[in-house]
Amino acid sequence: MPELFIGGRWTAAVSGQTREIRCPADGTLVATVDEAGPKDAAAAIVAARDAFDSGPWPSTPAAERGRLLLRVADLLERDKAALARAESLDTGKRLVESAYDMDDIANCFRYFGNLTAAGGTDRIVDTGNPGVDSRVVHEPVGVCALITPWNYPLLQTSWKVAPALGAGNTFVLKPSELTPHTAIMLMSLLTEAGLPAGAANLVLGAGPIAGAPLCEDPRVDMVSFTGGLVTGRRIMAAAAPTVKKIALELGGKNPNIVFADADYEAAVDYALTAVFLHSGQVCSAGARLLVQEELHDAFVEDVVARAREIPLGGPFDENARTGPLISAAHRAKVEAYVAAGLAEGAVLRCGGARPDDPALRDGFYYLPTVLDECTPGMSVVRDESFGPVLTVERFRDETEAIALANDTIYGLTGAVWSQDVGRAQRVASRLRAGTVWINDFQPYVPQAEWGGMKQSGFGRELGPAGLAEYQEAKHVWRNLSPRPLGWFE
Ligand code: NAD
Repeated sequence: MPELFIGGRWTAAVSGQTREIRCPADGTLVATVDEAGPKDAAAAIVAARDAFDSGPWPSTPAAERGRLLLRVADLLERDKAALARAESLDTGKRLVESAYDMDDIANCFRYFGNLTAAGGTDRIVDTGNPGVDSRVVHEPVGVCALITPWNYPLLQTSWKVAPALGAGNTFVLKPSELTPHTAIMLMSLLTEAGLPAGAANLVLGAGPIAGAPLCEDPRVDMVSFTGGLVTGRRIMAAAAPTVKKIALELGGKNPNIVFADADYEAAVDYALTAVFLHSGQVCSAGARLLVQEELHDAFVEDVVARAREIPLGGPFDENARTGPLISAAHRAKVEAYVAAGLAEGAVLRCGGARPDDPALRDGFYYLPTVLDECTPGMSVVRDESFGPVLTVERFRDETEAIALANDTIYGLTGAVWSQDVGRAQRVASRLRAGTVWINDFQPYVPQAEWGGMKQSGFGRELGPAGLAEYQEAKHVWRNLSPRPLGWFE
């Protein structure tokens, strides 16, 4: 069966081109899928445009749209095992982690289903004039291009698809060319749940070929993008001539600040989770460890001892605790950052190499790496390596910790560890980041907004703002007793 989904029909690429998807854990062929080009993207835009302008979805009552999202949540749960397996084969991620993601994805659909069904965002405005009825209503934005990355393929997709549909939009989804399978499966589930043809469309393929036309086309009203900073800048530029609404969820270089009075065991443990989960391929990864001077030596010693013990392995290896990087090119990029850090004076405390286990030879593995004695100017500290690389810097006091933490172009997440409640709160309030954890790292819930400050992007996903992102507020003013104004008499 072909894999592009346009106007409710599965279709092959006009060019006949295909792409091989290989599992990053061992290089085995997962499948060959259709590779869209500009003509397929244009067909998908036309289908989404028609479905928005004259299809039933935008005028479907909110309560019914909400119910459809709840049905999708049930179907995701029904197919959880197959979805998790597909996600793991595409990403190389451990099966157990993909299964957690599927739970989160179902919860995301459930959250937006309930939020949509509840409605209540429209309001009557008291103008002070009894001769006027004034109300603000919320309408869908229109045709949305949803462009997503490979690290959490279906999760990032669900953060866009669920609110976009909840608000009554139609969309064209372009997932990462490396990880298409769960997006393909989602199209079937949306159809099974009863979504009308044309409301959901899927193009697969390379960003500049299949994704760029979505950003440029005047028939698209909004682009919601999650991915890297450089791509985000391109998307913003491509959307500028047609002044599209855009939302950008970009990278991060997130600080994890540990004060000497932190709960030691928990802080060590979470310093590992923060950066080595999914081999660091997490936008919110705590890749910059900032440790208070007097704690530094013991703390780093313990983090390094535990990082050395992290077992690597493929999706179905039950002993593994983290997996491979997504591609050879990505591993080469991580290696280059580590080499640059060492050349700039960082001290390698562990990792810094590929594992020598022959069983891992065919995957893109890289050892959990700790670089000590780092300084703010190093590229490995400044740029997002998106790999299992922890840089360590020292600080003396609160002021210096805040200054170091905020010394980045990014502003996605950050954490502070201290048992002094006042200090933890003071530091948290000064961090320029969209999510801040106190004595924790990584948790999120669909009820709370997610997004970045500074060059981590703008717009918010999840929470009420995550739905509002896909709505336009419209003010409707009705004069109840129209009479000539007489201004130009
Ligand atoms: P990427 O920027 O390379 O690609 C993301 C998507 O954009 C892919 O679908 C790709 O095909 C597409 N694309 C590439 N060039 C394009 C173009 N010119 N026009 C239109 N589309 C184009 O990112 P990636 O490597 O897939 O993902 C990793 C990045 O995503 C990291 O930087 C990470 O921090 C970020 N990310 C951010 C969040 C967040 O919530 N802020 C979440 C997950 C990942």
